[in-house]
Amino acid sequence: MAKPLEYNATLIEREDVTPLLGVFRIRPDEPLPGEGAWFVPGQYMVLGLNNEARPDLGSVRRPMSIASAPERRDCIEFYIRFVEKPESDNPFTHLLWKQQAGARMYVRVHPTGKFTIEETAGPEDRRFKILVAAGTGLAPFISMARSALIRDPNVSLRDFVIIHGVSYSADLGYREELEELAARTGLHYLPTVSRAAKDPDGWSGHVGRAEDYFKADELAGLEAELGLPAGGFSPQNSVILICGLQGTIGSTITRLLHRGFIPDNRKIRQALEIPEALPASVFYEAYDTTPPVDLKDAALVADLKAQIHGALGTMAAV
Ligand SMILES: Cc1cc2nc3c(=O)[nH]c(=O)nc-3n(C[C@H](O)[C@H](O)[C@H](O)COP(=O)(O)OP(=O)(O)OC[C@H]3O[C@@H](n4cnc5c(N)ncnc54)[C@H](O)[C@@H]3O)c2cc1C
Repeated sequence: MAKPLEYNATLIEREDVTPLLGVFRIRPDEPLPGEGAWFVPGQYMVLGLNNEARPDLGSVRRPMSIASAPERRDCIEFYIRFVEKPESDNPFTHLLWKQQAGARMYVRVHPTGKFTIEETAGPEDRRFKILVAAGTGLAPFISMARSALIRDPNVSLRDFVIIHGVSYSADLGYREELEELAARTGLHYLPTVSRAAKDPDGWSGHVGRAEDYFKADELAGLEAELGLPAGGFSPQNSVILICGLQGTIGSTITRLLHRGFIPDNRKIRQALEIPEALPASVFYEAYDTTPPVDLKDAALVADLKAQIHGALGTMAAV
């Protein structure tokens, strides 16, 4: 049993997007560090709570992506889903959902992680940054866009593409802010709803999951959105960052191998025998522990290997 946590922060605001989705603003007791950026957008922190109702279950800590910009100093924002079918017997989100503004909690004010533009594409990369979010996987990308706008109010985000996949349109957290950002900065904001037919609010936009943008018959639509010629979407002009659960990550990776997109994962690269010297063009942050691609499935691996090597052969010949 984890020992009780010493609380060092206050939940100052909680906004319920839906009963299962919330924006949580937390202020650590210690003032946030100095001037300028104190973390890199895309990083996460660890939040924790003690189980007051069941002290025998102790405390629980979970990593959470930071949704606010590092330039913000009054609080740190998180975008969190209540997990209805948790795996643990002391789920963090079940404790969090009982907390209201003013509640005390634990936050490890030590931003962590390499799921950042700097550590993936690189700060000078001019290619399209295709940011693929499933549900709350939007958090790191919101932080990136917010920070870019704070640093330069006239910034162009034409090379940023946020694909946000949710079940129902009400789950499109940050929708208004992203629509405004798109109008102001040229950001490509592509929300998509998978259960559109049953959407209580009605949905006339793109239907499907985030990863469906990469289905063979949908790539032309994405290319048109980006002003690329048909068949032109490739690692030469695009780099992909995916955040969320295994399904979105796995399908995005496998659907784009035939275009030559190389995942930044050692095990997948080894299984597909991708030469080490070739740079990665698909990066991901997984919120769950299921491997994104089932590398024990020999037939699948053989098929994927043929796809990536076919693409690499074509690219080398051009
Ligand atoms: C680096 C990192 C950053 C993360 N950032 C966020 C974030 O910004 N927002 C957020 O909501 N979660 C985030 N998570 C997931 C979070 O850490 C917890 O796993 C999640 O909140 C469930 O914790 P729990 O204790 O309530 O349930 P557990 O008992 O720990 O249950 C875990 C189960 O929840 C599932 N799960 C985890 N995250 C989600 C989700 N978002 N939607 C649906 N199912 C999920 C997993 O598949 C797993 O089966 C992040 C995870 C990592 C590794």
